[in-house]
Formats: sequence, C-alpha cells, structure tokens
Amino acid sequence: MSKREVPTPELRCPRCHTELEPFWSYCPSCSRRLEWKDTLRETGAECAYCGWIVSDASSFCPWCGRNIQDDDSSEEPLKAPKGFKFHARCDWGCGGGVMYPMRFCPWCGRTQSWRYDDFENVCPHCDRGVDDWMATCPWCGEDATGRDLIPRALRRARRLLIVSRIRDWHYRVALRPGVSGVAPRAPKVIELDRRYVTGKRRRDEISWNMLTGLLLHELGHSFLYHHWSWTRTGRFRRAFGEVRKAYRVADEHWVDFERRRIATTLTDYVSAYAATHPQEDFAETFRFYVARRGRLRELFSEFGRKRKGVRVYEKFLVLHDFVRSLRGWK
Ligand SMILES: [Zn+2]
Ligand SMILES: [Zn+2]
Ligand SMILES: [Zn+2]
Ligand SMILES: [Zn+2]
Repeated sequence: MSKREVPTPELRCPRCHTELEPFWSYCPSCSRRLEWKDTLRETGAECAYCGWIVSDASSFCPWCGRNIQDDDSSEEPLKAPKGFKFHARCDWGCGGGVMYPMRFCPWCGRTQSWRYDDFENVCPHCDRGVDDWMATCPWCGEDATGRDLIPRALRRARRLLIVSRIRDWHYRVALRPGVSGVAPRAPKVIELDRRYVTGKRRRDEISWNMLTGLLLHELGHSFLYHHWSWTRTGRFRRAFGEVRKAYRVADEHWVDFERRRIATTLTDYVSAYAATHPQEDFAETFRFYVARRGRLRELFSEFGRKRKGVRVYEKFLVLHDFVRSLRGWK
C-alpha cells in the first residue's frame, strides 16, 4: 500500500532546512542521518537502541527492528497504539497494524514492504521510492540517482563533452528501472536503464564503453530538447528531417551503442539505429561527434573511406556550427 504524508512545514532538516517527510532516515539534500524522537510527548517512549519514537505497547521497534518487549508490551497485537496511525495490516498476518513507513512490524518484528507509487523513481540501492531532486535516498542513505554505480562512464562522458567544446547544460543522470531515455517534459534528466548496471546484466558483463555510448546517445536527446527551437531552422530540417514526427522504438538496440565505428551499410546515416527516426539520427550523430572529440577532419576522412553520402557530412557540420555558435564563435 502507499500512504504518503503531506509534509508539514516544521519538518525540516536541522542542518540544511530541506523539507522532510516523517520517518525518513536521511536528509535527501545533505544526507544527514535523522532521528525521530518523541519530541511532542505523544507516546512517552523512545527505542533504547535507535532513539526513535516507539509505543510502550510494542514488542519490537518498528524502525530498527530490535526486541523491546517488557512488562508494558501488549499481549495481543494492536491495530494502532496511541501516537501511531493504522495504515495497513502486518504483511505477515500476525494480526497487528502498521503505519507507513515502518520497516518492521511492532508486534511480530518482521520486515514490512511498502509501495512507493507517489515517488518519481526507485532507489537503485534499496528499491524504495525516491524523487528526482533527491541526491541521497531518504531510506538507505546511498546515492539516490545511482550515479555512484557508473562513475567511470560519467567521468568519460563529461571529459568528452569538454574536449568537444560543448557547454554544460546542467543535465542530470539517474538510473531507472526499465527505461533509457529523455522525456521532453524533463529535458535535463537523462534516464539510464538500471538493468545495465544492477540487474541481471551485471556491471562486469556490460562494458563501460557501452555505458558511455548509451550515455552520449541520451545526452544527444537531452541536448536537442534543450535547444528545441534550433530544430525549426531550415538548415537543421534539411539535414535531419522533421524531429516532431511521432515514433515508437523498442529499447532493444543497446548493443549498437558499443559500436564506435561508423556503419558502412547505410549511405546517409552513421548507424543503423540512426535511420529509425530523425531524433535518433540526431542522437547518434551527437554520440559520434562527441566520442570523436568534435574532430571533423578525422570523421570526414573516415566517411570518405566508407563512401558516406553528402547528407552525413552535412549533419555533422550543422551540429559543429551550432556548438560553435553557442560558444559565441563565428
Ligand atoms: Zn539536510
Ligand atoms: Zn529502534
Ligand atoms: Zn506482524
Ligand atoms: Zn535507497
């Protein structure tokens, strides 16, 4: 079940004053460890181990899971003792009630799971809900974006952008379950499918070259959304076509991103994937442009050897000129 409390204004991080929701373990902004004591004297009891508010009637601390049974503990599991709300029955059917977001049943001590539907993302470390603005997971205290899992690819992509002289547009990378891509409504958030990093495909199986390639490709989408008005210019449209045309593509093209050599099969595109849609064409052009550090001369001589059509040269020139114009060159 999902039960998200509306944050009350007085719930703020003591260090950085970020708004908090009750019973978060860490501040999502400054990662300070939080403690939820019985400050309002609602129950008159705090866990002797973790210091968080508990009920005298409980047998287990719902926050740290330790046994706190004593003479005051209720013989029978209760629905909601004083100071706590009833949000669900214990997952294990002990008959007691639990309040969001208790980690353990206060009556039988067993682990509880919650749904986090109101959150924008899932923490790649603990699978609980996180939002895109969060740097730290409020539940487990790890990096909420999962960027810590792909430091090498991120460093490499950042370095390549710098040497290609592409100005930072303040993009953010976040690992997500099930998707890679950039949504037009959030053009600066680059989503990377976390199964490449955490799931069945383990980190060591997926090469970091592939991750860098995927990242550069998605950065291309983000860059384009960020400069969307550019797509209306005649020169852009002649090179890439109509980027607004609707499309659906399967996410199963990931192998393509590892390929760092220009494909020889299609005369007018850098890769087979680029031919699927004008937006993919741009993202692939961007990927090659950045991976080759914006060195057109090298790219063009390779195009010559591979008998690429004039259109491919023009795509890179359009991008190159635009990147230069952003830096105030002419
Ligand atoms: Zn804080
Ligand atoms: Zn405790
Ligand atoms: Zn229980
Ligand atoms: Zn977490």
